[in-house]
Amino acid sequence: MNILDRYHAMDYGPAPEARNEADAWLAARDFSKALFIDGTWKAASGGKSFETSEPSSGKLLAKVSDARATDIDAAVAAAAKALPKWSASSGYVRAKVLYAIGRAMQRHQRLFAVLETIDNGKPIRESRDIDVPLAIRHFIHHAGWAQALDRDFPGHKGVGVVGQIIPWNFPLLMLAWKIAPALAAGCTVVLKPAEFTPLTSILFAEICERAGVPKGVVNIVQGGPEAGAAIVNHPGVQKIAFTGSSEVGKIIRKATAGSGKKLSLELGGKSAFIVFEDADLDSAVEGLVDGIWFNQGQVCCAGSRLLVQEGIADALIAKVKTRMSRLRVGSPLDKNTDIGPLVDLTQLDRVKGLVAEGARQGAVCWQPDAALPSSGHYHLPTLATSVSPANILAQEEVFGPVLATMTFRNTEEAIELANNTRYGLAASVWSENVNLALHVAPQLKAGVVWVNGTNMFDAACGFGGYRESGFGREGGREGMFEYLTAKLPLGPVIKPATISAPPVEQADGSAIDRTAKLFIGGKQIRPDGNYSLAVATAKGKLAGEVGLGSRKDIRDAVSAARACKGWPDATAYNRSQVLYYLAENLSGRADEFSARLVQLTGVTAKAAREEVDQSIERLFLYAGLADKFEGRVHQPPARAVTLALHEPVGVVGIVAPDTSPLLGLISLVAPALAMGNTVVAVPSEKYPLLATDLYQVIEYSDVPAGAINIVTGRTAELAGVLAKHDDVDGLWVFADAETCAKAEADSIGNLKRVWSGNGRGLDWASDEAAGDAFLRRAVEVKNVWVPYGD
Ligand code: NAD
Repeated sequence: MNILDRYHAMDYGPAPEARNEADAWLAARDFSKALFIDGTWKAASGGKSFETSEPSSGKLLAKVSDARATDIDAAVAAAAKALPKWSASSGYVRAKVLYAIGRAMQRHQRLFAVLETIDNGKPIRESRDIDVPLAIRHFIHHAGWAQALDRDFPGHKGVGVVGQIIPWNFPLLMLAWKIAPALAAGCTVVLKPAEFTPLTSILFAEICERAGVPKGVVNIVQGGPEAGAAIVNHPGVQKIAFTGSSEVGKIIRKATAGSGKKLSLELGGKSAFIVFEDADLDSAVEGLVDGIWFNQGQVCCAGSRLLVQEGIADALIAKVKTRMSRLRVGSPLDKNTDIGPLVDLTQLDRVKGLVAEGARQGAVCWQPDAALPSSGHYHLPTLATSVSPANILAQEEVFGPVLATMTFRNTEEAIELANNTRYGLAASVWSENVNLALHVAPQLKAGVVWVNGTNMFDAACGFGGYRESGFGREGGREGMFEYLTAKLPLGPVIKPATISAPPVEQADGSAIDRTAKLFIGGKQIRPDGNYSLAVATAKGKLAGEVGLGSRKDIRDAVSAARACKGWPDATAYNRSQVLYYLAENLSGRADEFSARLVQLTGVTAKAAREEVDQSIERLFLYAGLADKFEGRVHQPPARAVTLALHEPVGVVGIVAPDTSPLLGLISLVAPALAMGNTVVAVPSEKYPLLATDLYQVIEYSDVPAGAINIVTGRTAELAGVLAKHDDVDGLWVFADAETCAKAEADSIGNLKRVWSGNGRGLDWASDEAAGDAFLRRAVEVKNVWVPYGD
């Protein structure tokens, strides 16, 4: 075909990207020394290697050193050695290094893009225009955070040596998301790329050498799951940042339980792409192309579930099919290619298997009539219709170019379908009515929501999920917090409860017998098991009996907390007033609570009064902050604003400490409530009467039924039930080390956010045991992208 024929046919001619520079780089490199440790290139001890090959042809690209545990030891040692100087260097010094990395990457931008495409199979248009520029933006953006650390994060310092493990779908971009904030915070890193895509990380290490990154600050080791596990389990690492599958995320959550390591998990997704009947359908179709066929659908936040309003379903599906027929499947190095190969044969087989299973379960799978290249791991774009909500294609992350379609009738059904997944990473909402879109966005269980758009990212805007999509955020201010620690005032080590039963005493008949029950759904309720727990005074006498809560009581309390809509839906001003009212009513009974503290804990009357007064003051503080700890508006370099909203975590379990039993309980419950969470609290096992005395204060303070639930009983047992409960979204545990570790390990069912004291309490009376550090744990940051302009 000559150029004139092409012009008339309106067809694409070949537009190959040159690969000679990438090939020359590959030929010149010694991949048998591919571990970048302490600023030098090392072979793997034991000399093992793994192969990386080209997805578009299956050809071998390199045999790369495969790190063993001893290599990880060396990398962690190098990072630990470099840490004191790097963390003590000024923000300006670190900013200059980050800036130099960004600029050096810019100078080799095309080589990065071509290498990424050769190694991963993603179309060059994507690596050139999205992956690499965004990675560079991350370094330059975080140069600023390095210098702004003291100003924006007072009282915080870098967490230390960080282990980072990333997947193969955005190899360079994920590396940037990990390394840039860590260096800005003053951490040193050991990063392990995925074994399918080591190449751009090796080029990046070369850039670090040239950009003057001090030796040992960045260590990049190559290898597979074994090397990853060695990083996760290494005692010299203070934080693990992981991006990958939910399955491995859960393994890592379990492995780090009780270790005190900080953890962030960016995991899989099954994101909804919701199209309302008033949407601009042509724009929505283009959005879908980006949403599900970008990077062959190998995107954690891929809009893999199309939810379309019934009335426009046929019209939209017809447009989608027409557009799919025009997607160009072919060489990823061709600039006109839309769909390249999947990363590996195993991945292709997995996608094929899921599509076959989806079809077996009733989905109708349609593919355009297009020829696949003769070699390479290609999969045609696929549209599945007649997909039931339980179909594997609606529930499982396919991680391939497969779109599952469902219809809905009204807004409520759209939200219900969108949230009907164990994941919660992202969602897209399409409607020309911005009121409707902004009404829907907060109701979606997703960390990122794009209005009339999809797959928009920026270094200044946090990215991360809810539920089994993991926890923690990458990017922006929230992302920086993941690499920082605040100095919280530590309290004493908490010992496991060993309560000897107090002697049974004869009541003297002078007072009416009082039964302390559980407090569930706004009512005082007898424990399901009808057992009681004797509570001793400081002098070892019987102070009273409380209900011995059980698994069933926790279940009821969680149901009540989940059912309570009046609290999360209330305005912050409204919540603030209720918390003020609680403080007011507690102050009216300050004498009684002081006396109870003296009786149970044996503190002096003065100390008891102080604890009560501090508890009232703390309620006042959070009442005041309820409408002030707000989100932000970001202005990313796009025609959009990004609303970083603070949303409640959901149902939060709180296991309160024995030390300062009233103040400790209130210091935890009040911030959770202030941010709109509903709470299931397990008060101190030793001094539960302080909590049961609160029931009446709560009842008189206009707290909606179910907003606070209190279950007394054995700390270790009840903490375990809360940890395993899949309808508990967050768990804060201040108990002995074993209970804390177990709670973390048992939380993997729904990957709830666990805040554990690791066997230590806090000095609850200190001013630092209150404020933003608590409120931050009480919210999820949801980033809602709202584009503007015609
Ligand atoms: P994966 O979980 O199999 O592997 C990810 C990384 O973990 C690799 O480097 C791998 O070598 C390592 N690894 C595997 N087993 C390990 C273990 N037991 N201990 C420590 N490390 C281990 O995931 P993948 O197949 O490489 O990537 C695809 C997944 O990544 C998808 O589920 C996708 O949704 C997710 N992802 C999430 C995000 C996000 O930001 N949420 C971004 C990109 C990808």
